[in-house]
Order: sequence, then C-alpha cells, then structure tokens
Amino acid sequence: MKFADLHLHTNFSDGTFSPEELAGHGARLGFAALALTDHDSVEGCARMAAACAAAGIEFIPGAELTAEHNNTELHILGYFLDTQNQTLLTEIARFQIVRQQRIHEMVARLNELNVPLKVESVFALANCMSPGRPHVARALVKAGLVANLDEAFDRFLKKNRPAWVPKARVSALEGIALVHQAGGLAIMAHPGLNRTDEIIPDMVDAGLDGIECFHTKHSTAMSQHYLEIADRFHLLVTGGSDCHGFSKGKPLIGTVKLPYEYVEKLKRKHDEALKSLSVES
Ligand SMILES: [Zn+2]
Ligand SMILES: [Zn+2]
Repeated sequence: MKFADLHLHTNFSDGTFSPEELAGHGARLGFAALALTDHDSVEGCARMAAACAAAGIEFIPGAELTAEHNNTELHILGYFLDTQNQTLLTEIARFQIVRQQRIHEMVARLNELNVPLKVESVFALANCMSPGRPHVARALVKAGLVANLDEAFDRFLKKNRPAWVPKARVSALEGIALVHQAGGLAIMAHPGLNRTDEIIPDMVDAGLDGIECFHTKHSTAMSQHYLEIADRFHLLVTGGSDCHGFSKGKPLIGTVKLPYEYVEKLKRKHDEALKSLSVES
C-alpha cells in the first residue's frame, strides 16, 4: 500500500533535518509522497523537490502559516503552492521579519532576567529566515544557560512564562486567501491540538479545503472525530507526523502513514482549483 506524510519541517524553519536528510528518511521508510510544510517559509521546497525526485518520491510543496480567528490560534497548511508566486513571497517575507523581531524581544526579556543569551547566537543557530521559539531554547541549552529544552520552555519560553512573547498572527481569512491566490489548497492543521472546532464553520465559509485528521498528537478517537467533521462539511482529509527531527531518539517521520488515496483526492481538488483560477484570470 502507498502512503504519504504531508506535514514535515526542515532546518529552513525549526526542524533539525536538512531537506536531503528528511527525504532520505522518507525513502528508507517507503513513503510514496511527502509534503514540506515549514513555518512561514517555502525556501526549503526547491532542495526538497530535488531530493525527493532523486529518491523517487512524489513531492508536494507547502508551508504552515500561523493564523488566528476570533482570538483562536490555528495553523494553516498550504499545499501545491506556487513557490514563485510574488504575493506569497512578499507576505512570507513580512511574516519572517515579524518572527525575527520576536526573537529580539524574547532575548531582551531573558537579558532583563539576567540570562546572558546573545541574540546573534540564536540567529547563528537558527541559520534560516524563519526563526522561532525552539531556536531560542536550543541556543539557551548550547550556551549552558539551561540544562535542557524542557527547562528552557518551563522556566522561560512557555506561554505566560517570563520570556514568552505573544506571536503576531495573520487573520485566518487572509491566510486562506493567500494560499488560494498562490494556487494552493488550504488545510487546517492539527485541530485537536489547537482546539479549533468552533471556528471550523467560519473557515469553511472562507474556503477552507480540508482538515488534518491524522497527526502524531491526535488520538484515534480524535482522528475519528475529525473524519466525521470532514465528512459533514465535505472537506478533504490530510495527515502527517509534524516531524521536526529526532524525538526521543527516533525521527518522528514514520509515525503517521496517510493512505495515498487521500493524496489523490487532494490532487483532484487542486486540478479543479487551478482550472477555476485560470478561468478567473
Ligand atoms: Zn502547527
Ligand atoms: Zn508543523
């Protein structure tokens, strides 16, 4: 049976694998298709496409956008994005600047707490356009200022801890529209994690194409719950591991194996969407 992982991160955001390493794991695990969904970034897609092609794996270019609706945070996965789309690239560059500013603010708060972390060390470690909180945590560990990542989050970086800085988020309606104008499909990521059930009807009205029913942190009951919601609203179904690298000594990729028939449904919807885009323009 063919299967896919449609939720993966590389070191172009806060993952630790390079695109080549990630594609290598995908090949070893026998995946037929992979999607790259780095946070607010499509920079890794070209290398991931090449690495997947070399390994005989079908590749879907994507990204994961941090968004909000009625004060609820949600993550929007965009699939089949045109990674050269100018509006998409302009908006992503804007999100990345906001992310970089947030790093500066988090480090300033740490310094006020007499934790002498240098902002340059975070950016050097992140080495990407789309840095995030995990990079601050890793830099703290590397500088010997905390013993491990858990301590970094528990003492400083978790929501409402002293070095936490709220994240600026695009409106979900804008996020969905941004994905669509770049020729992509917009999917709500891990609804079970963000507890976003009550906003699903609004998202459907805004053109949401699907929901991520299968995710490492979804229980079987949760996946079933979201499959029923997908059915009720005629939404596409996706799934992925949300692999950021090694987790407890093993790469997280491989924990979710989405049956390939769901990828075929995505491709059909994407073909239809492209046709209607070309009719409009
Ligand atoms: Zn997410
Ligand atoms: Zn993710």
